[in-house]
Amino acid sequence: MFRKIQVSLLLISSSFGLLSQSCKDFVEDSSMYSVSMIYDDIVSLMYTYSDLLTVDILGRSEFGQAIPIMTIENKAGNNMKKPVLLVGNLHAREFFSSKFVMKFTNQFLLSLNNSNCIYKDASRFLDEYVFYIVPLANPDGLKIAQEDWKGIEEHRAAINKIKRIGPFSDWKANGKGIDLNNNFDDGNFHLKHGRLFEENPASQGHKGDFPGEAVEARLIQNLIDSIHPFITLSFHTKGDILFWADRGTHAKFKGLDTKLNTRVSKECGLLMARVSENPKDYAAGLENYVRAKTGTIGVCIELSKPNNKDAQHPPDQFHKLVWEKCKYLPFIYLDEFSKLYPEYQELFE
Ligand SMILES: [Zn+2]
Repeated sequence: MFRKIQVSLLLISSSFGLLSQSCKDFVEDSSMYSVSMIYDDIVSLMYTYSDLLTVDILGRSEFGQAIPIMTIENKAGNNMKKPVLLVGNLHAREFFSSKFVMKFTNQFLLSLNNSNCIYKDASRFLDEYVFYIVPLANPDGLKIAQEDWKGIEEHRAAINKIKRIGPFSDWKANGKGIDLNNNFDDGNFHLKHGRLFEENPASQGHKGDFPGEAVEARLIQNLIDSIHPFITLSFHTKGDILFWADRGTHAKFKGLDTKLNTRVSKECGLLMARVSENPKDYAAGLENYVRAKTGTIGVCIELSKPNNKDAQHPPDQFHKLVWEKCKYLPFIYLDEFSKLYPEYQELFE
């Protein structure tokens, strides 16, 4: 009798071990996340989830680095699924944003195969949505911010000529000194000045000489024009705040943007910024492009609390400051969007 109990306890504990192991993602939690780590994780996902995940190269950065795009799609069922776009790392130094997007992707895929993993109703979202995921929008900039010169050595002399504000680790622009989130063609580029206006290429604060000058911004614009996402979530890192509306487009959403972001704000503990009033301050970001040019939902999500400096939080704070707080965020948007869609359908036709 005693022995039997022992054996069954052993079985229970070993199966618990298996369960917890099978929900473990590839993305580590405590180191700086580099371009090569991101590529490696994408390759691991590609081999592990070839049935659910497609990996392509969206294009190449100014210095020829691959910008990958992952698609998660259930090809069965209706083909009226709504496209959703997630983007990380428009700003070079903000590797928490890539890590968040990658970890979300990995946990989503794990949850589709195992109902014990964190997203209990993951498959429901695949019935309604197609996910396009760009975790590394600015590989050159991320390499510069981490002084990871391998593969971009030939550009070092040019990089050194770009005006640098602070140490390399504060680098925010792309490899050519253009802030990608000020370079989208939202119709207000000519007005854009921003708070840190730099006339010439710089590690931050330079919008470029014309909209879409940066190849990385152009690639994402072209992607949006071809897939027409209903919701675009662009991840940044600092502030625990949602930049969710601007005066030029807010009215046309008839309250949908307010409802979606109010719920996310409450459930994830993020502030909602005031509706941006002045095109000089808000214009030419990815979220502005999406709202102005496609009339769909675009949000800039600032992950992790403010620390009143350019320096990012230490890498080992990712789990506590970002993941624990926001791991459900993409699905909260989609859950709310699914509920509200019948009422707002005409906005998307
Ligand atoms: Zn940013």
